[in-house]
Amino acid sequence: MTVLSIHEFPDPILKQVSEKVTVFDLSLEGFIRDAVETLNSHKYCVGLAAPQIGQLKRIVFIDISRARKPHPNNGLLVLINPLILEKSNYKIVREGCLSIPDFTANVKRAMNITLAYQDIKGETKVFVTQDFEAHAIQHEIDHLDGVLFLDKITNPSSDLFRRVRY
Ligand SMILES: [Zn+2]
Repeated sequence: MTVLSIHEFPDPILKQVSEKVTVFDLSLEGFIRDAVETLNSHKYCVGLAAPQIGQLKRIVFIDISRARKPHPNNGLLVLINPLILEKSNYKIVREGCLSIPDFTANVKRAMNITLAYQDIKGETKVFVTQDFEAHAIQHEIDHLDGVLFLDKITNPSSDLFRRVRY
């Protein structure tokens, strides 16, 4: 397994739209193993999207059990071709991003989502989740469309914060 390097803002790959995964093979499984290794190599990191590690594929990796504070969670989620079917209960939440290491921001996210995705074998599943896990999934899916939290804030002077390093 390999820890892959993280592409950081303003790397142009972060602004591109990723392609749907259509081939579910050993090379996909190898990439997923490396991505999970990469996620696990960053302390408190709860999510990663394939374009952040240089692959314009519609795959996101979420594991909010790794957050500094405990939240109800479903452990590691590998979501291939994720598609949000329903969103409700919007709130303003603070979020960070491995690709924008020096800032966090206040962003509006749905606290309840229903999504469809494919698993590593290509089987379609439907999944319902809420709160921090729902929020993290929306952040990662935005990466697949070339959207960063910097694109979602309306007022940088009140919604953008310099990150405190631990
Ligand atoms: Zn991010």
